[in-house]
This record gives sequence, C-alpha cells and structure tokens, in this order.
Amino acid sequence: MSARKSVATAFMALSVLACGGGANEEANTRADAPATQVFEWKMATTWPKNLPGMGTGAERFARQVEAMSAGRLKIQVYGAGELVPALDVFDAVSGGAAEMGHGAAYYWRGKLPVAAFFTAVPFGMTTPEMNAWIEWGGGLELWREAYAPFDLYPMVAGNTTLQMGGWFNREINSLEDLKGLKMRIPGIAGEVWQRAGGTAVVLPGGELFTSLQRGAIDATEWVGPYNDLALGLHSIADYYYYPGWHEPGSVLEAIINIDAWNSLPPDLQAIVEGAAAAINDSMTNEFSARNAISLQTLVEEHGVEVRPFPDDVIDRLREISEEIMRETREDDDLSRRIVDSFLAFREQAKAYQQVSDVAYADIR
Ligand code: CA
Repeated sequence: MSARKSVATAFMALSVLACGGGANEEANTRADAPATQVFEWKMATTWPKNLPGMGTGAERFARQVEAMSAGRLKIQVYGAGELVPALDVFDAVSGGAAEMGHGAAYYWRGKLPVAAFFTAVPFGMTTPEMNAWIEWGGGLELWREAYAPFDLYPMVAGNTTLQMGGWFNREINSLEDLKGLKMRIPGIAGEVWQRAGGTAVVLPGGELFTSLQRGAIDATEWVGPYNDLALGLHSIADYYYYPGWHEPGSVLEAIINIDAWNSLPPDLQAIVEGAAAAINDSMTNEFSARNAISLQTLVEEHGVEVRPFPDDVIDRLREISEEIMRETREDDDLSRRIVDSFLAFREQAKAYQQVSDVAYADIR
C-alpha cells in the first residue's frame, strides 16, 4: 500500500507542477476534495438480505458510515444473489465490480487455504481471543498481507460469537454415526468432518433450509440459536448439538477493493474503520443477547432437543483439527507465519482463560 501511496503522491506533485501551481494550490485541492466529493459504493454480501445479525449488521454499518460522513460516502448493501452470488463476493470486490464486501474469510479457502484462520478454526480461538489476536497480536497485519495479492483490504466487521454444533436428524452417539453423514459445514471444519468419516458440503445460508428439507444433506450447522431460529431449522431437524467445536468465535470481514480504499480521503478512511469497529462490538453484543433468548424459545416453544457431542467424537475432531492446522502451516512462508502467530496466541490465551473466564464460569 505504501508503494501505491508514494506513486499517488508523486503523481499529484507532477500534476501540480504541470499546472504551474505551488504549495498553496496543492493544499487547497487536498483540503477541498474531502468536503465536496461524494463516493457511492456497492457492498456485496454473503448473507441473505437483512438476515438478523449479519445482514442487518451490514446495513447498520452502511447507515452509520453515511451519517458519520454527512452523506459523502453512501454504501448500497446487496444481499446474496442480488449483485453476485454469495460465494462470488471475494472475486467481485477483488475485480472491482463492487467496492466493498461483507462476509467471512473461510468462504475463500479454495483460493487461499490459510484464510480460514481469519474467521474461525476448529478448536481455535473464541470471540474475544480472535479480536485480541487480530487487533493487538499481529493478526491484522498478516491478514492484510494475505489479501494484498487479491487487491483487497480487509478489516474486522462483526462476529457471530461461539456457534452451536448444528442440526441433525440422526442421533450422534459415537464416532461411527458420522460415517457417510452429509453435512453442510464450511472452512477447515468441513475437511475435519470428511476425515472423521462424514461428507462435507459448502452452501450459503439461503440454501440450507430447502437442502435439509429435501434430504440433499443430513445435517447442517449455521450459526447459533438467534440465526438458526430465523432460518427455521428447528422445523426440519430433531436434534441441536453443542458445542460449536468448529466455530468458536467467527470473525466477519469487511473487504474493500484496494483502489477504492486508496481513493478515499483520510477522514473517510477513518470513518470506515471506526464504523467497522463499532459494528464488530454491536453485532457481538447482539448475538450474545439474542442467542440466550432464542435458545429458550427453541427449547420451550418448539421442543428442540439440545444435546452434547459424545466425548469420543470431540476427541477425534480435535485430533484431526490439529493435524490440518499443521498441514496448512506447510503450504508456504506466509501460511507458516499466520499459523504460528495464531497458535502461539491461542496457547497464551488458553493459559490465561484457565484462571479467568473458565474459572469464573465454574464458580458462578
Ligand atoms: Ca457456521
């Protein structure tokens, strides 16, 4: 980015010289531009339009940016399939068809296997731990380095909090029950599921209900009680398993085309970053509040059976997850640095959790 910036600065200096202008003229140009120029952006999202939590969060972010910028940056939000299909958001923003996108990095694992580490990794870090690693532990710099070849500038813009294990029509009593079980489960978790004997498919949220209803899949995870209730998954599945071993605190991303980002004056860039941080907090709080209420609704009003995964299943899933993390580390130098940074942070966080959150949850 700094190379692009210096090119832009050099170009600006040349233009000023060409016009015969001096320092004052340049200062006027720079000072006037932010106050008058209106930017109109398209944001493609991977979520069904206005899906509670993620979809409505993307809308709140856009409204906040517009209000904070006094209308100088207007962002039109498109639901999955409105501008591009959910799983084409990365390419659309990378290629400039949309200036911005909102989704989750693990959807892009086919292009960049290590991307999953910036959303959620099975047996990885929880929401506060992910936020801490990305903002204060070097994660963000690595993420920006990983996306730079795609002309994308990522930032944290939401979190689903710890998810649920998913919806099943078959009881899971042992590892044997995973054999041949076709489940919608994205990211590294899908690979884990495959190696544990199941079959994994990736489907966007908008296709889960009909796929499960028609029997195209035997099970699906989505998010947690709040979102799952909104999709109506309880009406087509009997058992709701926990915990969400596969997504302990999924980070949602805002991705911005690098040329669009560089075209913004610094104050609008600061507004976008501030609004992204605000929606990250706000969405996290929303999920925390609504998941608790929604779980109660699912159990008391809809008779959902909530069950823990058996120990042998969890043990095997953990073993495979650690194996895949080690494999991802071997992909290239960047993957090694990302995985090492992630795992080192997880170990520190885990040690501290034992004397803080874990210990406290046990005594409350
Ligand atoms: Ca999920």
